[in-house]
Amino acid sequence: MRCNDRPSSPIAIDGPAASGKSTVGEALAKQLGFAFLDTGLMYRAFTLAALRIGLSAEDPDACGKFAEELSLRVIPGTRTRIELGGEDITERLRDSEVEAKVSRYSAIPRVRAAMVSSQRALAQGAQIILAGRDIGTVVLPGAPLKLFLTASEDARAKRRGEQTGAEDDAQARHDISRRDRVDSTRTVSPLKPAPDAILIDTTHLSLAEVIDLALEYARCARS
Ligand code: C5P
Repeated sequence: MRCNDRPSSPIAIDGPAASGKSTVGEALAKQLGFAFLDTGLMYRAFTLAALRIGLSAEDPDACGKFAEELSLRVIPGTRTRIELGGEDITERLRDSEVEAKVSRYSAIPRVRAAMVSSQRALAQGAQIILAGRDIGTVVLPGAPLKLFLTASEDARAKRRGEQTGAEDDAQARHDISRRDRVDSTRTVSPLKPAPDAILIDTTHLSLAEVIDLALEYARCARS
């Protein structure tokens, strides 16, 4: 293990819902001068586009075809932005309907294949961090650094509730546990750590502590 200031790219960050992947990924990208690609936003963008045309997740063939033809403009940066037909839809991607349905669309193999192929193209040759559920296992299994963030469901629900300004975290807890269940039990690319991923349990860590730890791993990953 050698440590240096120029970490190797790409960096994979996976983990369950609301485990802090995006917040940590964005902070890490800023510190390292890397781009950040939040792949969850791509599945959310697909979901929004499908809902807008009334396409059900119960029709996997039509969803697969739609995913292959859909022209999403994904713009990795310090934050990821997504355009659909010229419209910046980034702020729509956390809407409750998208939140409720995204895991169903994400379980469709052809939808995943289309997303994974775009993600690999975006990562090719870039100094980049990708966050998601299957980055270390499927999208970039050769990534020199793979982090897998976890935290208790209580801690994740509390943090998500605070982010959304909800009066209590019951709704956040419900959404998180439903998405985790579907994401971990699907047949294709279920949520799980890659065998060589570094697990970070953030339950009792502050955000600053998690970022420091991630930075240390990034600077000391094998090159
Ligand atoms: O990361 P985020 O919670 O925004 O992801 C939304 C949903 O997108 C997840 O619950 C999961 O169903 C799907 N997803 C996925 N694979 C990824 C990223 C997200 O299946 N790499």
